Amino acid sequence: MKQIIILGSTGSIGTNTLDIVSKCRDGFEVIGLTAGSNDEKLEDQLRMFKPKAVALSDRAAAERLRARCRDVNVDIHDGPEGVARVAELSGDLVVSAIVGGAGLVPTLAAIRTGKHIALANKEPMVMAGRLMQEEARAHGVHILPVDSEHSAIFQSLEGHRQEDVHRLILTASGGPLWELSSDEMRDVKPARALQHPNWKMGAKITIDSATLMNKGLEVVEARWLFDLPASQIEVLVHRESIIHSLVEYKDRSMIAQLGLPDMRTPISYAMHYPARMTLDLPSLDLAAIGKLTFQNPDHDRFPCLGYGYDALRVGGTMPATLNAANEIAVAAYLHEQIAFHHIAEVIHGTMEAHSSREVAGIDEALEADRWAREKAGMLVRSLAPSPVR
Ligand code: NAD
Ligand code: MG
Repeated sequence: MKQIIILGSTGSIGTNTLDIVSKCRDGFEVIGLTAGSNDEKLEDQLRMFKPKAVALSDRAAAERLRARCRDVNVDIHDGPEGVARVAELSGDLVVSAIVGGAGLVPTLAAIRTGKHIALANKEPMVMAGRLMQEEARAHGVHILPVDSEHSAIFQSLEGHRQEDVHRLILTASGGPLWELSSDEMRDVKPARALQHPNWKMGAKITIDSATLMNKGLEVVEARWLFDLPASQIEVLVHRESIIHSLVEYKDRSMIAQLGLPDMRTPISYAMHYPARMTLDLPSLDLAAIGKLTFQNPDHDRFPCLGYGYDALRVGGTMPATLNAANEIAVAAYLHEQIAFHHIAEVIHGTMEAHSSREVAGIDEALEADRWAREKAGMLVRSLAPSPVR
């Protein structure tokens, strides 16, 4: 029986994780759950899974939850430090599924208390990947990828030698706007950009898929998860999201992992590794699919992919800056304060203004994150057509 903690339990990855737990009640004991502000969903989850402790980063939401859950034997923490406290509970595995840089402190706290990590929350790896891997090594922790591409690469690397790898090829669906011209994309509304053809995910990552920033973040994530330089990491557009990624070896053979686009497959693999669980999904019917297609990414229409490579080339605090600027720009876009094409402008402008420093510890990553949010906020205000409240 593995004792697990789920950070971000009310989100898309979090609810899929609990779905797996509910089908595998003998395998997992849920001891901690955390969320941002959704106290109602967290209440349903805590009544069903009976964790020892929960946390909401939103203090007012935590207060509401306390008022309704006096009959339940559970510790209810609040604020970012409350989320980190739940991450520090003793246990075996932490599913890291908060969205954004808010996951960095609790995920590092989980690593430092020696629990293995099933990592969906890619932004901390972008902000401080080297630090996270050093801490994981120091504490004997395995960071198991949940992101479908990284899970595919992880599986395709199993049983092979790192020195035999020629390159990693991350596949990209192209996102909801792949068929649009630059002109058509400029002023696309959030309702349209949120319609992903293959994956049902949270709003932030869906917009990241529309800009291809998600793939830029994933290049940085792959660099740290697999300890390979950016020169060995490539991106291939594959609209069908059936091949989740590939590894090419030096003898030019390629190994890929295929599956339906359903996050329960990579989540359950990270939770059970090296075992696999039976999932009640249809088999992939390759004859019915008939053909799979591949294209090179288009850097003119989707400049954000290149920003991931740029950030890695500069190194230091630049990836944290990229991530924070993207979070601010995406939030402003979702609130219809800036146009779609402004997202890339805000990221680019923030990176241009940044002088990168070494990330010696978490403080440098957090300081770059704070600086970039402020800078990107100023750029958002300068671009917004009407005064931003
Ligand atoms: P989501 O928006 O559906 O859920 C996010 C979760 O984080 C929620 O539980 C929310 O309450 C919590 N949260 C939000 N802000 C918080 C804060 N400030 N402090 C503490 N908790 C906070 O997001 P998601 O789609 O589940 O994605 C989660 C992470 O997994 C992201 O980093 C995303 O890039 C990654 N990921 C998601 C998918 C997917 O299919 N959804 C696939 C690959 C990777
Ligand atoms: Mg992915």
